[in-house]
Amino acid sequence: MSTLAITNVGTMVSGDLARPRLDADTVLVTDGRIAAIGGSELAQDTRVVVDANGSTLLPGLIDSHVHPVIGDFTPRQRMLDFIDSCLHGGVTSMISAGEAHFPGRPKHPAGVKALALLAHESFKNARPSGVKVHGGALILEPGLTEADFAELAAFGCWLVGEVGLGGVSKPEDAAPMVKWAHRHGFKVLMHTGGTSIPGSSTVSAADVTAVKPDVVCHLNGGPTAVAPDEIERIITETNLAVEIVQCGNFQAALIIARLLQERGELGRLILGNDAPSGTGVIPLGILRNLAFLSSVGGVEPAEAIACATGNTARVFGLDTGMIEVGRAGDLVLADAPLGSAGANALDALRYGDLPGVAMVVIDGHIKVDGSRNTPPPTRKASVRV
Ligand SMILES: [Zn+2]
Repeated sequence: MSTLAITNVGTMVSGDLARPRLDADTVLVTDGRIAAIGGSELAQDTRVVVDANGSTLLPGLIDSHVHPVIGDFTPRQRMLDFIDSCLHGGVTSMISAGEAHFPGRPKHPAGVKALALLAHESFKNARPSGVKVHGGALILEPGLTEADFAELAAFGCWLVGEVGLGGVSKPEDAAPMVKWAHRHGFKVLMHTGGTSIPGSSTVSAADVTAVKPDVVCHLNGGPTAVAPDEIERIITETNLAVEIVQCGNFQAALIIARLLQERGELGRLILGNDAPSGTGVIPLGILRNLAFLSSVGGVEPAEAIACATGNTARVFGLDTGMIEVGRAGDLVLADAPLGSAGANALDALRYGDLPGVAMVVIDGHIKVDGSRNTPPPTRKASVRV
């Protein structure tokens, strides 16, 4: 039985918007799952003990919008190991929004199914650096039938990449496919805003309302945002999950954050990068989203973290994203970066600084002991084996 205890935690962030902070200083992970949350006595008799040295423990971050291809390589930016770099930014899970950058991507039903299945199984069988990449997001192309969704579902595929990336873009063509997808247990993403890459389409509030996806992707633009009145319509006329991405429009992100907070609907907000993309690869993008929302967006830092963890897990049905008994042991230890005006990780976010990541744990295994990408944390964690 493998066990890991993280003790002497100064601040514990739950990932649950209903109760963003936990009154505890120790978490015990057994066989990959969170087994207990409480005081330092939990760490007795544990094989591996991490002394957090007063720093902040939060759930592993979930990037809700990634465009991977196969393995840890992106043809869009001709870059290796971008997933590993994101792990060093505290990301332990990623949701594919479609493998649209696959060179020579097929555009007929048999081809898009083959690509979705290949990416799904490849990422499931070989997690890059341990990161849980949920790949194989089917891109909708004309000619797909309900039987195609049933067939992919039987192989475990459960994501439809951004509606609008493929040849099915008109709401009247997409809506029946989205119904089939839902019938077979898929979660459906939908591109909104201006055209992102040549060949994809412009999507408005009326389109979103007609198609009824699960997630309104990059409501703040990917990278071009819909107009402010369209943002308001999507937020007020639907109850869909909405996404803010790093590779988007920051003015639009502020409008979204303000509206959701005014309406008491922060539970609908999830955070992604929308990378790799034309904008690039941003390994610290989810942390940057958190700092942006916490400093100028008026969102409490622990609540912003819940948007990037527990909210996303709920929207996609993942068993991670919260510090809760029974969930996957996916955790991040962080502190204010050296020199920050903030006294701890949450305080640093409030000042707009990126926290220093001290440690990243996936399924109870330490994957990063000192991030190579964030600034150094003020307090260092130590491991006793
Ligand atoms: Zn998009």
